[in-house]
Amino acid sequence: MTERLYYTNSFLHEFDARVVSVATDPSGRSLITLDRSAFYPTSGGQVFDTGWLEIGTSGRLQVAEVAENEKTSEIVHILDGGGSPLQPGTIVRGVIDSDRRRDHMQQHSGQHVLSAAFEKLHGFATVSFHMGDESCTIDLATESISSKQMQAAERLANEVVTEDRPVEVRFASPEEARTMGVRKIPPAEREKLRLIDIDNFDLNACGGTHVRSTGQIGCILVRKTEKVKQGVRVEFVCGLRAVGTARHDFESLTEAAALFSTHIWEVPQQIRKSLDEIKSAQKAQHRLLEEVAELQADRLLVTAPEGSGCKLIVQYFAERDLGFIKMLAQKLTKKEGVVALLACGGAQPSLVFAQTPGLANDMGALMKQTVQALGTRGGGNRDIAQGGAPDGDRAESAIVETAKQFG
Ligand SMILES: [Zn+2]
Repeated sequence: MTERLYYTNSFLHEFDARVVSVATDPSGRSLITLDRSAFYPTSGGQVFDTGWLEIGTSGRLQVAEVAENEKTSEIVHILDGGGSPLQPGTIVRGVIDSDRRRDHMQQHSGQHVLSAAFEKLHGFATVSFHMGDESCTIDLATESISSKQMQAAERLANEVVTEDRPVEVRFASPEEARTMGVRKIPPAEREKLRLIDIDNFDLNACGGTHVRSTGQIGCILVRKTEKVKQGVRVEFVCGLRAVGTARHDFESLTEAAALFSTHIWEVPQQIRKSLDEIKSAQKAQHRLLEEVAELQADRLLVTAPEGSGCKLIVQYFAERDLGFIKMLAQKLTKKEGVVALLACGGAQPSLVFAQTPGLANDMGALMKQTVQALGTRGGGNRDIAQGGAPDGDRAESAIVETAKQFG
């Protein structure tokens, strides 16, 4: 069992310890246990500390990950790469990455305050907590949450931050804890519970690292809420992470506002306006294309030669797309006795074969045969079929080739 120095002092960033055991995991990483450690192992939703183990002045070994052996209650320090020079009995100095630790303390302490605020204001219990690389989440036991409820809890939590209330660690038996009004008592039976007491606001059992007073949390920013299986998930960030996230958000908004030449608060309104304009422009474009297709169809019908019992139209459009040639095919085959073999270039070279419904040809079969020769895909029914072409030139030659079958 490792003596956990962070239990009583979250601000201890350097400590001396003796190596108890050295092992290697299947991936070749060294696993070191010490008689005492201030390194926090992943547990209770909080992620592990990183840092270094120093051996006198001869060098430092990077602690890449820290885990807990639940059976033995040992803290396992995982070093990248094997062959560490450590032996049982070696005296090392542990050094914790203090920026990472501070960030974790801000997130975790902020979570206590935010969870208590949701419970006090709305009776929503926190059922789980997750700390990610970018943001943290708590899951609340409720079917739904309104924006107003979320904002009220965020407001109360930040008031508690600005009041700079002391945060203390207490130890109590589970029986004592029950009489003290602890927010959530863990199910595992333990002799002594470690309680985190936020002065006159929250008392909760927790093994993590926390700030000395709520002012050190800095601030608590709720980012979003979403419905999940076990309730409602609330995403939030605290402290310097909140500043970094808000900065990122602000820069994105500023860039968007500059594109619209407007104030950042007007961005949503501008986006709605632009989306409306895009929609009506698309409608207008569609109408124009219909007109062009109509005119094109008339011109092609006038100039098309009469084949064996039908008008054969073979036309390649380098600059048009599949949507246009399909539209044109439909217009052409509204007339009696028309076969249209159309192709387009552009970003997606394509073919459309169509005939006036009821004619004797099989456009689907013809397309299958053509795309097989081109090595692409396509198909359709007896009257209309479409397919792909590797490029514009081959799309054009494919329709010329196919036209030969109509004499
Ligand atoms: Zn905690």
